[in-house]
Amino acid sequence: MERMLISNPYDKQGIWLKGSFHNHTTNSACGSQPLETVYRMYGQYDFLGISDHDFITVHEGERSIPSVFEALEVSSPQRHMLLINPARSIMDDYSNEFSIERYQQLSDSCTRHGGMSVLVHPNRYYSQFWPIEDMLAMKDYTGIEVINGEGNPEYDIAFDKWDALLSAERKVWGFGGDDFHVYGQEKRTWNMVLAEQNTNESILAAMKAGSFYISTGYGFESIRVEDGMIEFNLLSSEGLDRMYKYVTLIGKDGNILYETSGRINSVSYKCRGDEGYVRAAVYLEGGFGAFSQPLFIG
Ligand SMILES: [Zn+2]
Ligand SMILES: [Zn+2]
Repeated sequence: MERMLISNPYDKQGIWLKGSFHNHTTNSACGSQPLETVYRMYGQYDFLGISDHDFITVHEGERSIPSVFEALEVSSPQRHMLLINPARSIMDDYSNEFSIERYQQLSDSCTRHGGMSVLVHPNRYYSQFWPIEDMLAMKDYTGIEVINGEGNPEYDIAFDKWDALLSAERKVWGFGGDDFHVYGQEKRTWNMVLAEQNTNESILAAMKAGSFYISTGYGFESIRVEDGMIEFNLLSSEGLDRMYKYVTLIGKDGNILYETSGRINSVSYKCRGDEGYVRAAVYLEGGFGAFSQPLFIG
């Protein structure tokens, strides 16, 4: 019998850090708040990126957030792509004109510089979105924005595209991003990263390895693998343990592998070997969510 390999991006020591990268300031024409206000709004976060449209906002001024990232949102009229930690020289001869080749070059330039590239709001069908064909035509990028915080559930959520890419054996991580422009969009969705320490280098290394999950208010304490079993340990406390959880495990083609609910704080799943991948979507009663990265089964 062949040995089953389960790759677990959470199999490491570290601290959980909270942050987001997709946020606009008045350096975007559509942004409503200056940088200093955005710093205050996100003052309790462990890390924050500022991603203005086609513009790298330089971090300056007073802030309580320990780690900050330069970023930009490549913003053609067709598709938007978030670049986190690009070299500033990316703005030399910069154009946002959309073609697969140009977006791939920009993505490659950013990841070569140690950064990450994320295809954002792929299902925003009334303006900029990503057809699945273009997402497949792009050869290499870090991930896609699975939850966007604009505030239109019909267009903000893209688990369908994520499962399509994962099922086509593309290793792309799922990101949450507020896309903060105006009050009401802040702190809706974020990323919880299992990093060695709170530094830019450590956060980037962890996220590129998939050691993070998306949260809209709930979370995981740990995700472990042993003897072909995956154990999802949910955030637990006396208060939380009294509440209902709704857990769905999803595999290739978006198929539901397992579902359960109850006043539980962990879920175990015995892998069969043919799932392709296993990812968890967990809801606490009230709707607070936590969404793991895929654990690839090989
Ligand atoms: Zn955008
Ligand atoms: Zn944006």
